[in-house]
Amino acid sequence: MLDTHCHVYKEEMNNYIEIIEECNRNSISMIINAVDIESSKEIIDLSKKYNNVYASIGINYDSIDKAIEKDLVLLEDLIKKEKVVALGEIGLDYYWTKDNKEKQITFFKKQLELAKKYDLPVIVHARESIQDVYDILKESNVRKGSLHCFSGSLEMAKEFIKLGFKIGVDGPITYKNNKKGIEIIKNIDLKDILIETDSPYLSPEPNRGKQNSPLNLKYIVEKISDIKEISKEEVIKVTTNNAKELFRI
Ligand SMILES: [Zn+2]
Repeated sequence: MLDTHCHVYKEEMNNYIEIIEECNRNSISMIINAVDIESSKEIIDLSKKYNNVYASIGINYDSIDKAIEKDLVLLEDLIKKEKVVALGEIGLDYYWTKDNKEKQITFFKKQLELAKKYDLPVIVHARESIQDVYDILKESNVRKGSLHCFSGSLEMAKEFIKLGFKIGVDGPITYKNNKKGIEIIKNIDLKDILIETDSPYLSPEPNRGKQNSPLNLKYIVEKISDIKEISKEEVIKVTTNNAKELFRI
């Protein structure tokens, strides 16, 4: 299995090495996602050390206030490193604050330009910003990547798929009363789905509230197999292929 979006590194969890090694023993690979230049460097180092780690690098909304123009130059240098498979997570978040909206948009657009230049997929975060994210992606001509932890409507999911993007499914799909999430999975093709954990956040049931890890991917697989009434093996096979193809792993 392949976790296409997690934050298994020092700043986010003390036991990250243990988790990476345990995943390795269980044949679980992961694309660790950065939020700023520092974490981008750290993840690239981890990817050199561990064969089950791949790097997705970028500057995210929660580090946007301290981000400066020069960071984009540093980021471009890092893109050229081995095992960098995507730019992310990048995107827009208007839930926490809209005060820095213009700066968020500027950095999002500039990172999309880099993705285009280096022909890399993007891993996109959108919270209370889905229409802006859609419009900017459409205009950018970047046509591959994922909408991580997708929380929009079924109609919107279909629009992103039409643009060429995949829908990231994680822990919340296992939560009670997630009717919207279930409706989306029922009505889109398995080939358009990626599985992810967003570890250490969003632990699925039955581990909700605890620290999350890519080892919990199995609960997300189980839920998708229930909803789509297909075997777990089929879910693993197809979603792993989706990820391998998209991120060229
Ligand atoms: Zn994340």
